[in-house]
Amino acid sequence: MRKPLVVGNWKMNNTLQESLSLIEGLLSNSLPAERDYVVCPPYTGLSLAGKLIKETKIQLGAQNMHFEAKGAYTGEISPLMLKELNVRYVIIGHSERRQFFGETDLKVSKKTLAALNNDLIPIMCVGESLAQREGGFHHKIIKKQLVQGLKLVDSSKASDVVVAYEPVWAIGTGRTATNEQANDMLGFIRTVLTELYGSSISERIRILYGGSVNPSNIDGLMKQPEIDGVLVGGASLKSEEFLKIMTYSDRG
Ligand code: PEP
Repeated sequence: MRKPLVVGNWKMNNTLQESLSLIEGLLSNSLPAERDYVVCPPYTGLSLAGKLIKETKIQLGAQNMHFEAKGAYTGEISPLMLKELNVRYVIIGHSERRQFFGETDLKVSKKTLAALNNDLIPIMCVGESLAQREGGFHHKIIKKQLVQGLKLVDSSKASDVVVAYEPVWAIGTGRTATNEQANDMLGFIRTVLTELYGSSISERIRILYGGSVNPSNIDGLMKQPEIDGVLVGGASLKSEEFLKIMTYSDRG
């Protein structure tokens, strides 16, 4: 019922020339239907990437945005500006934004609401640190991030939100969560979403796993019943690797 979603987060990588080769590589293979595919270039690559993937199965995403439509916010980009470039998805509250750019749960909530109000699909990220997991607080932290991050989102729009669970200790470290750890946390996230919005809405919300996803672990992750898709950083920068992830096998 929920359409699988594979998202590539390029972070602060790829010149225009590199973006061109990467996208050409991704378009060289046919992709299974009935899945959604998204690439999230840095702002400077959005226009080019949007042109290259127009009328293909791959959709365009951004890595961040401001919650206001316009104003005196030097260095920021608004939802309207993203819409102009045919952006469809936007990553909100990535752990790197929380860690390095002071992104709070309140900002995450304002941005998530602004995305929905502008017909953009927010990919709202949550994730615990290694110390929080080792201390046994991971469920508590994730619940707090979800409740606070979705505070401004009422049930009329909630089903359009995508939640990405990305344990901070698994991002860019090569240390992925086990299939069981990922499946357990995504199941817990759906329970929290049910508490917030009821089961008919929570059953429609897609929940992704992210953290060192690669061609070797994708099949196992996507076989987990709670995992609706993946958010991929490093392995989305090489077309051969990201293609293997996009074409994961859901059999067996
Ligand atoms: C990410 O940036 O969202 C991410 C999951 O990175 P990586 O796949 O490199 O761990």
